[in-house]
Amino acid sequence: MMTKCCRDCGVTKDLSEFYKEQGICKPCFKEANKRWCENNRERSRAIKTNWRKNNSERVAEVQKRYYDTHRDHVRDYHRLYMAKKALECPKHILTMKAHKNIGRALEHIKKDELGVSSKLELLG
Ligand SMILES: [Zn+2]
Repeated sequence: MMTKCCRDCGVTKDLSEFYKEQGICKPCFKEANKRWCENNRERSRAIKTNWRKNNSERVAEVQKRYYDTHRDHVRDYHRLYMAKKALECPKHILTMKAHKNIGRALEHIKKDELGVSSKLELLG
């Protein structure tokens, strides 16, 4: 078994615990990445936005696959979302109905996910 010593946490681990060409183990790598994102919020956001822009086909593909595999969940979620939105803002529902494009609808759901789920919690 091939092992390597992580230069961050100093623990000797199996090679499968390391990403290729990385001197630090996967948990440390993730931690370092998270730390970097926290310290470079603007840059990490820009990188993410840029990545999405350059990979819009892939993003759409992922969304489509998500919809295909979570069809019921998405439908329920969407229905719930629409019901709550209708209560909050009847005008918004008309706008939503205009968006027949699934990807578009998913985008809305994602953007409002946090707000909606916290509201759902409040409403029970
Ligand atoms: Zn480590």
